[in-house]
Amino acid sequence: MSPFGDSPSSVLDCASRGAPIDTPGIRNFGLFGTEPREIAHLFVEMRPLISQCPFQDCLHTHEPRCAVKQALEQGDITQQRYDSYLELLGDAEKGRL
Ligand SMILES: [Zn+2]
Repeated sequence: MSPFGDSPSSVLDCASRGAPIDTPGIRNFGLFGTEPREIAHLFVEMRPLISQCPFQDCLHTHEPRCAVKQALEQGDITQQRYDSYLELLGDAEKGRL
């Protein structure tokens, strides 16, 4: 369903389209200054779901009734993209330290 490739760079190319931050290689910056809860905004297919989450500060990892998790279960978000999300989320959390 998703035309996105599986290499990290193509994921980021797609993820950064229209993203609030405009850096060609966000990974190189370690996502410095990016709040973990902003990471989902980098994924175009997650963006419309964020507002549907019951929690405003949802990280879409373990929260009950999370709209992103539900989309993942329904196959609207691919596991591959979700894995990329978790990876970036981990980077952002490290960047806060
Ligand atoms: Zn969520």
